[in-house]
Amino acid sequence: MPNHLQDTVTLNNGVKMPWFGLGVYLAKEGAEVENAVKAAIDYGYRSIDTAAAYHNEEGVGRAVTQAIQHNGLSRENLFITTKVWNSDQGYESTLEAFEKSLSRLKLDYVDLYLVHWPVKEKYKDTWKALEKIYKEGKARAIGVSNFQIHHLEDLLQDSEVVPTVNQVELHPELTQKELLQYCHDQGIRLEAWSPLGQGNLLDHEVLQGIAKKHGKSVAQVILRWDLQNGVVVIPKSVNPDRIAQNGNIFDFVLDADDMRTIDQLNRNRRFGSDPDNFNI
Ligand code: NAD
Repeated sequence: MPNHLQDTVTLNNGVKMPWFGLGVYLAKEGAEVENAVKAAIDYGYRSIDTAAAYHNEEGVGRAVTQAIQHNGLSRENLFITTKVWNSDQGYESTLEAFEKSLSRLKLDYVDLYLVHWPVKEKYKDTWKALEKIYKEGKARAIGVSNFQIHHLEDLLQDSEVVPTVNQVELHPELTQKELLQYCHDQGIRLEAWSPLGQGNLLDHEVLQGIAKKHGKSVAQVILRWDLQNGVVVIPKSVNPDRIAQNGNIFDFVLDADDMRTIDQLNRNRRFGSDPDNFNI
């Protein structure tokens, strides 16, 4: 259980990944994403989650370069994740997409490269490309995103490298308990996207009650619930105050009752696409 913003979890290949990071989906390329990443790093965040599909890898890369030049950080202090987009899936096209991401990020390697969605008929070839990238040392870890149990079972039959991470939609109304258990059993770390339900869960009455009890915000309660469940989390904000608020979750503990109450809010409700029926 982490007790500091920069604490890490050791992935199944020995690489250490921060439990907590900044998501930058919908952060605009240019000043918006650069300032968000800068604010996060200044506050103490060390992990940034982007994707080719977010069209902001260049801004993330600039902010990372600045942090290394001006914040006294070295590249090894930061953990950068990006993802191969659906239209680039397949063996050769993934290798090409990866090189383009690297050059937009202006990095020699990424810390984690993910298959963004399980595109049917393609994700196994895509994974073979990720295995090559991993073996060449251009990604310190590789993983998947939006994979259900059946996708993982299928992938594991044909893979040499077990994914380190599965990044999925996960929040109090979509607790993903079965997938969490399955991934735990396979040594795959679950990572929550849209942990705040894209902002939709922040006025939830039950969560507000728990937040009041601890003198924290609903966002802080949800993010703490993720960590106490062993789930890596990457909330998004471009607002420096909220970036700081979200990272300030290491001074309180949810008790067993709080944890159970939040777990019981599950409605299998998705704010994003269903991995078994997506067209993006
Ligand atoms: P989120 O649940 O993190 O919610 C973000 C929204 O909540 C934003 O509108 C933000 O302004 C608001 N917010 C954040 N902190 C707040 C606070 N303290 N108080 C009030 N409002 C606050 O949603 P998300 O951006 O969809 O998910 C987080 C990250 O997960 C993304 O940025 C991205 O990196 C990743 N993601 C991955 C996938 C995938 O398919 N792998 C899909 C979606 C998102």
